[in-house]
Amino acid sequence: MALHVYNTLTREKELFEPREEGVVRMYNCGPTVYSRAHIGNLRSFLFADVLRRWLEASGYTVHQVMNITDVGHIQGDEDEGEDKLDVAARREKIDPLEIANRYAEQFLADVAALGVRAPEAYPRATEHIEGMLEIIEALLEKGHAYQVGEDVYFDVTSFPRYGALSGNRIEDLEAGARIEVRSEKRHPADFALWKSDPKHLMKWKSRFGEHGFPGWHIECSAMAIGLLGPELDIHTGGEDNVFPHHECEIAQSESWTGKPFARYWMHAKFLQVEGGKMSKSLGNVYTLADVTERGFDPRVLRYTLIRGHYRQPLNFTWEIMAESRAALEKLDELYRRLRMASEGKGASPGPEDGAELVEAAEERFREGMDDDLNVPIALSALFGLRDAVLAGSLGTVAAERGLAFVDRANDVLAVIDTAEEQPDAEIDALVKAREDARAAKDWAESDRLRDELAARGIVLQDSPQGTIWHRA
Ligand SMILES: [Zn+2]
Repeated sequence: MALHVYNTLTREKELFEPREEGVVRMYNCGPTVYSRAHIGNLRSFLFADVLRRWLEASGYTVHQVMNITDVGHIQGDEDEGEDKLDVAARREKIDPLEIANRYAEQFLADVAALGVRAPEAYPRATEHIEGMLEIIEALLEKGHAYQVGEDVYFDVTSFPRYGALSGNRIEDLEAGARIEVRSEKRHPADFALWKSDPKHLMKWKSRFGEHGFPGWHIECSAMAIGLLGPELDIHTGGEDNVFPHHECEIAQSESWTGKPFARYWMHAKFLQVEGGKMSKSLGNVYTLADVTERGFDPRVLRYTLIRGHYRQPLNFTWEIMAESRAALEKLDELYRRLRMASEGKGASPGPEDGAELVEAAEERFREGMDDDLNVPIALSALFGLRDAVLAGSLGTVAAERGLAFVDRANDVLAVIDTAEEQPDAEIDALVKAREDARAAKDWAESDRLRDELAARGIVLQDSPQGTIWHRA
């Protein structure tokens, strides 16, 4: 089976075929840097990372761009309200660019700690204002946009496919729209490409006026097309981006270029916390800082956020984090046991013994990932292999292949600790002494040795194939 992905645009799982053979152009909607990314945002960025890694593991060259929104993201994602960055800048009484830079740095540090592979580019909206104005001019010229005073709006009725991604219909949007006081828009669903506001802190001079700034949607079109060309293969985001953000991106991009903007639209589902919505009032808008403060390694959060299917809602609880930590210990153990078995320790006598189990695990992993990134299936392949190596079913050659497979799998998931413990003869001797005590059923002595090892920060893992240790 080749890679199939669920396309929000067609509402179907489709065979993945990029426009250019072997090359994928992918754009991921990134953070709006007015505050630190919360774990719900991080889920969407990690989904993009796993997707990119699986595409690379499948042999594609991936041109990946994730934007950083540092201006023009209006509260509520519509044209009314205030720019999130402006609000944060007023609250903290500093320049909005300073806010943006601070949180952009924080974002880069957070995703690096979570093992996210850096894309080719992390463009910032404020660096692409000219490209946005160029598109806006072209849209005006083609009759897809209109100017009211110093503002420019996109005319949704000029784009018949408006609503195709989200399933919204222009006439329903009209009926459902709030009765706006003094709206200058021709249609309630029209959206701002360029806004003017003398009170806005970040503003650019253009032929429309002195105090302009871009709409959020035009930013992504300008950065995506500017860096990846007019036709993308994959565009991702969180499910909250489908409407209006991505719907508007499609309308303005395709009206401008006359070409299909993105072939596959992929969206990660919402994250819930303790079964409910994340909210400031409940104090559960967790960030990576909350996770590490509670003593969890960032990779435990990575595992928690990728271990479910990205199109399934995910519930975050601290109990699930503890379960994830335990699961990761098992995967780490799988790796250590495979390494030992490949060296003959705890291995089955025939070198090729269990080779078919390794092959089946690899097959299952690939099938799972090819099936719209079904990470739960892929993980079950790893846990199945762990059972086999713990039962001593793998010979040395099979274990070596298993190790190579787990390395490849971890290149995609990036959750297993594959670092080799430094050999330590003293620890080995204590572990051996404890094993001897256990064999002699001298429980008092074996407990004493376990405690002594624990005091030195050594974690023991027992199995019929012997005891292995690692540093906590
Ligand atoms: Zn975007």
